[in-house]
Amino acid sequence: MSFNIDNIIRENIKKLKSYSSARDEFQGEASVYLDANENAFGSPLEKNYHRYPDPMAHAVKLELSKIKGVPPRNIFLGNGSDEAIDILFRSFCNPGIDNVIIVPPTYGMYEVSANINDISLKRVNLTPDYQLDLEGIAAAIDVHTKMIFICSPNNPTGNSIRREDVETLLANFNGLVVVDEAYINFSRQKSFIQELTEYSNLVVLQTLSKAWGLAGLRVGMAFASEEIIEIFNKVKPPYNMNEASQELALAALKNVDQVNEWIKHILKERDNLVLTLKGFDFVLDIYPSDANFILVKTTDANAVYNYLVEQGIIIRNRNKVELCEGCVRITIGTPEENNTLTEALKNFRV
Ligand SMILES: *Cc1c(COP(=O)(O)O)cnc(C)c1O
Repeated sequence: MSFNIDNIIRENIKKLKSYSSARDEFQGEASVYLDANENAFGSPLEKNYHRYPDPMAHAVKLELSKIKGVPPRNIFLGNGSDEAIDILFRSFCNPGIDNVIIVPPTYGMYEVSANINDISLKRVNLTPDYQLDLEGIAAAIDVHTKMIFICSPNNPTGNSIRREDVETLLANFNGLVVVDEAYINFSRQKSFIQELTEYSNLVVLQTLSKAWGLAGLRVGMAFASEEIIEIFNKVKPPYNMNEASQELALAALKNVDQVNEWIKHILKERDNLVLTLKGFDFVLDIYPSDANFILVKTTDANAVYNYLVEQGIIIRNRNKVELCEGCVRITIGTPEENNTLTEALKNFRV
């Protein structure tokens, strides 16, 4: 048996007739629009937002398609990639019946989204060097396993997952392999987007929240086969990407040079911070990072965390996460912020 979308889509979604909005029913140009119950007088703002946005965000997809090298029909845009994760569950997983595989330590939303949708989780921990346990994953797959979530570069560990291992899953698993590339812009590895033509069970998630510096706009992306994107479009709320986000995302996408410039700075700052932190007694290990954060193993994560909070510096305490005992996750800041951090840590005593 090989991958077939019809075998994994939920029956109710296959049969679903999606909501038909005013903008779906009339798509041409007209001089008077009295079809969507908007306020024709305008908005109580300088700029008007009184019209519903483009449900499919065509302009943003077109610009993204130039940057990513994939046609717009292979792109879904959502209210953050968290929306894409939720739509995956709602489209492919039957509550109370199906399951998905996650590979901890990893991003927390896969589990939360599974719980919200009443989908059981199979946890196959990463190996001690934070790579996939392929045998463990193979053993965990059963007839109700619909998706495997891989985060690469992985949050919170920072490393990239070995490409060959992900390809092994793509070639052998008859459900969806979701590769979350929220941090791909910082990585030495290339994106899996280029593999979409090769694997029809691949879904790649990316976001404008990290390298692109637009976390506040909530713009997430999923790249997948046309069939999968059509399902996303059926299930998503009609106007899931608001007009302000569409306009601002479009403007930002035309400024890719600025983003690439920042990425260079961030990577340099990351190297500097790693060097400085290595000099501290309480730092036991710093894991290799392909992202804009580092996972740091310390003698006492709680003490480091609490001390920094007292200094007004907030990092992420990952001490309670399995395989991350003693660890804190530190986002790379501006040179000034990183300096404030390291200066404060000079006075830290265990
Ligand atoms: C930050 C992050 C996201 C981003 O989610 P948005 O909803 O797009 O902001 C997705 N996946 C991972 C692994 C992340 O760390």
